[in-house]
This record gives sequence, C-alpha cells and structure tokens, in this order.
Amino acid sequence: MAEKIIMPKAGMSMEFGTIIEWLKEIGDKVSYGEPILEIETDKTSMQVEAMNDGYLIAKLYDAGDEVPVVTTIGYIGKKGEKAPAGDAPVAAAPAAKSAPAGKETAADTGKAYDVVVLGGGPAGYIGAIKAARMGAKTAIVEKSVLGGTCLNRGCIPTKTYLKTAETIQEVRRAADRGIAFGDTSFKVDMKKAVAHKNKVVKQLTDGVAGLMRSNKIDVYSGDGVIGKDKTVTIGGKEKIKADKVIFAGGSIVSRINLPGIDLDTVLTSDEMLDIQKVPAKLAVIGGGVIGVELASVFNALGSKVTILEMMDNIVPTMDVEVSGLLKKKLEAEGITIVNGVKIEKIEKKGKKTYVHGDIIEPVEADTVLLSIGRVPDLSGLGDTGVAVERGRVVVDDRMRTNVDWIWAPGDANGRMMLAHAAFKMAEVAVENALGEDKAYSSQYVPSCIYTHPEIGAVGMTEAQARERYDVRIGKFPFMANGRALASDGADGFVKVVVDSATGEMLGVHIIGPCAAEMINEAAALMAAEITAFEVAETVHAHPTFSEALMEAVADSIGQCLHLPPKKKK
Ligand code: FAD
Repeated sequence: MAEKIIMPKAGMSMEFGTIIEWLKEIGDKVSYGEPILEIETDKTSMQVEAMNDGYLIAKLYDAGDEVPVVTTIGYIGKKGEKAPAGDAPVAAAPAAKSAPAGKETAADTGKAYDVVVLGGGPAGYIGAIKAARMGAKTAIVEKSVLGGTCLNRGCIPTKTYLKTAETIQEVRRAADRGIAFGDTSFKVDMKKAVAHKNKVVKQLTDGVAGLMRSNKIDVYSGDGVIGKDKTVTIGGKEKIKADKVIFAGGSIVSRINLPGIDLDTVLTSDEMLDIQKVPAKLAVIGGGVIGVELASVFNALGSKVTILEMMDNIVPTMDVEVSGLLKKKLEAEGITIVNGVKIEKIEKKGKKTYVHGDIIEPVEADTVLLSIGRVPDLSGLGDTGVAVERGRVVVDDRMRTNVDWIWAPGDANGRMMLAHAAFKMAEVAVENALGEDKAYSSQYVPSCIYTHPEIGAVGMTEAQARERYDVRIGKFPFMANGRALASDGADGFVKVVVDSATGEMLGVHIIGPCAAEMINEAAALMAAEITAFEVAETVHAHPTFSEALMEAVADSIGQCLHLPPKKKK
C-alpha cells in the first residue's frame, strides 16, 4: 500500500512549510532515509527524507507551494502503483528535468548577474545570501564544496573530533561520580570517527546548498577567475558577467621552506582531519589555535603528542595568563610542549620521522602535523589589478579593494581569519556593493579555542590595555562557581580588563567550561558599551557558568561578594 509523505512539523511554532524543490521525480526509486524534497520553514530550510523504500508515485504539491504541517504532500509506493483516490497529484508523470543549480549548460553561458560571489565559504555563501535577499540577481562560484574551509576542513570537523575527545575524557572521569563501567579501556576506530565527522559535515554543506536554492542563487562549480572586463570565467570555459564581484577565495594552509617538509608523514590540518589511523606519536609544529586543538584531539585518542612552538607562549595572541594556564592543563593531560624552538629540518629514517630543532633533541614521530598558519588563496583574482600586500588583499573597513567593482571579505584579506568575522565582513561588503554605507570593525569580535579547558576572548589583553589605559583587573575563578564544580570544570577563570576612569570593559578573557558560549555575552555587553558598574548590577541565573562573568566584572570594581574582601592597599 502507498505510504504518505507528510509535510513535517519541525518545531512547536511551525504551521506551514514551503516546498523549495522535489529532489526526486515521479517514478524514481527511493530508499529509506534518502532526501526526497527540500522544504523551508519560517526559521530554516531542511530536507524531508523517505520513511520507506519504494518509488515516488505522486507529488500533491509543487515547488513554491506553502502547505500546512502534517498535510500529505506525496506518496511512495510500489513501481507503477497509483496514488490513493481523492488526492489530486500535481505531477503523476515524469516531468522534464530542469537544469539544477550548479549544473548550468553551455546554453547558459554569457549570463549576467548583479553580484557574482567567488568562493563558497562563510564569506562567500553569506555574501551571496545577503545579496539575493537585497534583491540582486546573484551567482556563486565554488571550486570545491560549498561551505569552504569552515564546514569542510576547519571549524566543524575539528569541533566534531573535539567532542569525541571530550567523550573519552567524560568516560574516564565517570568513576569519580560513582559510575563503574566493567572496563574503561577503549579502542578508536578512526575510519568510523572520520565517517561520523563526514556525516556532520555533509548535513551542513547540504544545508548551505539548500540555502542557495531557496534564495534562488545560481551555483557554478569550478575554478573561477575574475576578468578585467567584469566577467568571471569558470573552469576556463564558461564566462558569466558581473556588475559587482565579491571576492571570497578564503585561505589555504601555509607552508614553509624547510628540509623534509614534503615527506609523506608531514600532514597539514586538511589531511589530518581524514587520517585513517591514530598515530602512536604525533609531533605538532606550531602551537597556535589549530595546533593545540588537534593536539588535544589526538592526545585524547591515544597519540603521544609533542607541540613545538617558536614563540615563548602557545596561542600567543591570547592573554598570557590564559595561555599559561592552557599550557599547564595540556601538559597535565600528557602533552609535551616546547616553546622558543626553531625547527631546522624534518627527516625520515625507516618508518620513523624526526623533527630537528635548535634547542631540542630530535623528536620522533609517526606523523608530523604542520600547523603554522594560513595564507589567502588568491588564485581567482586574475589580472584585475586588485592590490595585494604580504599575500593579503588590501581592503578598507568597507571591504572595498582598489578596484571599484570588487570587494574582498573573509580570510582573503587576512584581517581576522575566523568564520564569524567572515560572515560579518561579507554582509558589510555586500551592503556597500549594493549602495549602502556600512563599516566593519574587529573590535568586539570574539575568538575562541575549543580545547579542554575552552578559551574565549574579546577585546584587549591586559598587556595591550595597559599600554593605553589605567586599568582595573577583575578575576573570578571557576573554583568558586557552583555550576563549574558540579560539572568537573573548576579549572580556569574569567578575567576582565576595565578602564579605571570610565568603567568601560576593554577586554574579557575566559578559560574554563563553556568559555566559547560565555564570551558572546561579554562581546554583546562591550559592543553595547555597558559599563562594569552596570554589568555588576545584572542578575545572572544560578547556578550557571555565566555568573562567573558577572562576578569577575563585580570584582574589578571591588563588589564581588563571592570572593573574600580585597586587602586595602
Ligand atoms: P574559506 O572558508 O576558505 O572559503 C573560501 C572558498 O573559496 C573555498 O571553498 C574555496 O574552495 C573557494 N575558492 C577559492 N578560490 C576559488 C576560485 N578561484 N574559484 C572558485 N572557488 C574558489 N574559524 C572559526 O571562527 N572558528 C573555528 O573554530 C575555526 N576552526 C578552524 C579549524 C581549522 C582546522 C581551520 C583550517 C580553520 C578554522 N577556522 C575557524 C577558520 C575558518 O575556517 C575561516 O576563517 C573561514 O572558513 C573563512 O571563510 P572564507 O569564506 O573567507 O574562506
């Protein structure tokens, strides 16, 4: 018997869903769990999956139709089966397939757009959506998979693995809470871990593709190169015209000229995220954000990890107290950290690889992770004459380049290589391209490190603030926060840097549980220019980690009641 396909109710407030696109035609075979259509709610777009195996035998509504939730919108049945009487299919025979976005045919060449976005990462896809929402006819060109570094090789894969690492740590700590597993030894099946990561990534990249469709953005696949004549050539053949171009080519891994850098055991984060076996010994060259995050992951998965960092601190852009505590915690987890080391060469002897540095004995490793930073990918800039300095596209705070029809948000300009910064820069770039006047500022953009403990920071470090201001420091340890103690998260603190003269919050630095969540409150308060005196008056729910932020701010003005009174100077 034919089975109904129902418009799902994807949330308490959802009353209607709009069909964006059927992904199957009448007569197509469908399998359980396979996406068959895409819908849009007032909040998001999502795919509806087949609830059984069979053939799509009827579609009762078509793309663009708004349908009440739990209405039957189609049927899956046996091959050739008729849909139940009473329902009037809008399409009961195979319809002519239109060329889907991303599969433009030769006949489409020469298309003209108000905005062409080059690059489908956070800057590119948000830029394209913004342009389409502002009414511009928009195309996006992507040479790999929509979602860019962030979704495919960056933020999301690393955070998926960090959750895996956290799961192992939680299980190890379970005995302290009275949970006795028969045996807490474990093996990691890296192939399964990679497959799980890929599933998460695909869900998100499919979501971006869905957003392109629902915003009616044409997607072109292939290497794009901008031409002086206001065109973008895709894959060396197809040419589209562009009134304005948003160049969002993003970044690629930075490599250095070091003997042994091309050995097959030297991987970048791109390859490390797909590694099929946990290396017994891992040497990490570079103790920046990507280095420490992947070091944490592989340490938890069972590798013996050594971090080799040239600077005196790991994560050197963070407040020194924060990076100092992170170092202690990572060492306590079993990671070896060497600071101030200059790597001289990498060499392979038999199956082992050795990293040589000026102040160390050679470090033996099965795998070496090279994580020394990222550089913009300028392959799409062509002969446009866009100004580049130290490998980065030069832009002003409007994201304008020196070419009056090209804007360059995101990693391409190297201002702040973070996905959320790229989102904002892209919005600003498009608004300016379409005639508005908006400025971008990094001042209140938070940066986070998702190690254990987690780090969140916004604004100036204490050292930076002291160069310009007379400051008061407020600090609250998670040791004194009930929620943190209850959650095994007592390591760490919230530190706030406040201008003594005005009470303005100049910087907030958090190391501890949920720091990456808490820092958003700090950023919002700072952006709204709310003073320490006002923050200290706010009521935070108890018990929450966020209380520590309010307490640290209160401490900066001598009003923290959950700490002993400060000694009078
Ligand atoms: P990208 O994401 O690099 O996207 C650029 C896109 O343009 C790519 O898809 C590329 O294929 C495409 N492209 C380039 N040239 C062309 C061309 N000529 N034609 C067609 N397409 C082209 N940031 C965070 O905020 N939080 C994190 O937790 C975080 N973790 C990270 C972890 C790792 C391991 C890495 C590597 C990065 C991480 N980042 C994180 C940084 C974040 O991924 C980037 O800041 C963000 O992706 C930048 O977005 P973008 O759109 O500017 O560039």
